Amino acid sequence: MRLILLGPPGAGKGTQAKVLMAAHDIPQLSTGDMLRAAVKAETPVGLKAKDIMARGDLVPDAVVNQIVADRIDMADCARGFILDGFPRTVAQAEALDSLLAERGLALDAVVELQVDEEALAARVENRAAESGGEVRADDTVEALRHRLKVYREQTAPLIDHYRATGKLVSVDGMQAIDDVSAQIADILASEGSQAQVAG
Ligand code: ADP
Repeated sequence: MRLILLGPPGAGKGTQAKVLMAAHDIPQLSTGDMLRAAVKAETPVGLKAKDIMARGDLVPDAVVNQIVADRIDMADCARGFILDGFPRTVAQAEALDSLLAERGLALDAVVELQVDEEALAARVENRAAESGGEVRADDTVEALRHRLKVYREQTAPLIDHYRATGKLVSVDGMQAIDDVSAQIADILASEGSQAQVAG
């Protein structure tokens, strides 16, 4: 199963990715997590990404495209993966399209988590408060506001990109976590049976 989770910061992509990872035994590929690990390890990519991420801007497409291409070729992705936080621009979506096509792979679904933007600030503030010692550099009200703007301008257009492929499914991300998970599971199960009927 190859999935993309789409939605603004704080929509619950990471939470749902973990549920899907356990249910389908496939890895979660979070470009945010991979970039934060690179920042922490002070790799060349990390040194380049650090300030960009702290501001809430996007790391250059070429950098993340390469990270994802390398990751998808690892053995644990053979049965599928959940992309969380990638693609984030139309150029990244196009790079992913060709990357998958080159490998003869297809996406099963793009799950859009729809949320009320007003509620997002509160969620992210809670996340910052609950994380104890390790507060993310970009989990401040200012950086979040900027990340939301970047999402609206650069990532939201992907909703149309994927709607055009017929792969987009939208879920109400304001429901309780378990209800969101249940709805995603239902949709994927019915898509799977449709795909089987279609051969
Ligand atoms: P959130 O969804 O909570 O905003 P992420 O962990 O997905 O957080 O991403 C954090 C930051 O990492 C982003 O604001 C951006 O700077 C960088 N980043 C993550 N994924 C990408 C990507 N696909 N393209 C460019 N930058 C990215």
